[in-house]
Amino acid sequence: MIDIENIVTEIAEEMRAHKDRGTVASYIPPLACVPDSKFGVAVVMADGTIHSAGDADEAFSIQSISKVFALTLALGAVGDQLWNRVGREPSGTPFNSIVQLETEHGIPRNPFINAGAIVLCDVLLGRHQPREAIGQMLRFVRTLSGDDAIAIDETVAGGEQDTGFRNRALANYMRAFGNIHAPVERVLGTYFHFCALAMSCRQLALAGRFLMDGGRVDGHSIVTASRARRINALMMSCGHYDNSGDFAFRVGLPGKSGVGGGILSVVPGVASIAVWSPGLNPSGNSQLGTLALERLVQRTGWSVFEPR
Ligand code: GLU
Repeated sequence: MIDIENIVTEIAEEMRAHKDRGTVASYIPPLACVPDSKFGVAVVMADGTIHSAGDADEAFSIQSISKVFALTLALGAVGDQLWNRVGREPSGTPFNSIVQLETEHGIPRNPFINAGAIVLCDVLLGRHQPREAIGQMLRFVRTLSGDDAIAIDETVAGGEQDTGFRNRALANYMRAFGNIHAPVERVLGTYFHFCALAMSCRQLALAGRFLMDGGRVDGHSIVTASRARRINALMMSCGHYDNSGDFAFRVGLPGKSGVGGGILSVVPGVASIAVWSPGLNPSGNSQLGTLALERLVQRTGWSVFEPR
């Protein structure tokens, strides 16, 4: 019998004491103010029990983890037609890279790099104004987590508006290829607000339950089982940018990172996990978050590549 409560507490203590904590993102100014001493972890088990430790109840900027929820909403809006506009292959390039877009005619490699998520926002704006799309996202994560306190941090969204030159370049470039339809500033405003969602590890792990449980939360279907399986597959292959192979090697779970230092990871049928530590590795993924998940998987045997 795995003593998950004890494992989570132990890992939080180890991470608290760890010296090499990575570098907090500073290219979005409000993120630079977050102390690198923070560490939180929350594990929601299939039976609903929650184990948490450290700063698990402190809200942080989920950043690119929002791409998982944006993908789910975009698939809900247009189904498999989405794949005419976004690929499903790992990019092997940094999160904000533009290089592949030229040879690949404005079609981003996958929905979890910035260019891909900008297309997801454009898809959602096919039916809504930005305000409605942002409201739809907020309602979605609140419903998934069962927590109406979740909000968007307008300071972070504003910081991204002021400094998001690369994202503007990506959106304009894709628009030149006809793969962005709405006005670029509206698409980016939506994208920046999604990235600026503030959630705690507990809220995030609760929001990931539908991916743990074949698309269901508390018996209600959010997506079909096959859609949940495919989203998990994309998280495994593309969830950590040019570090996705290394994350699969070390952790062996579907996972999505954000430059706020969070990672949402899923053990299908077993648990939904969120970790947070703001210091990043050179690829923009949480340094201690990855280490914590690696240790969690070593101590529980939860990698999808291990027999159960
Ligand atoms: N808002 C960030 C950006 O667009 C997201 C990047 C990330 O979390 O990886 O640069």
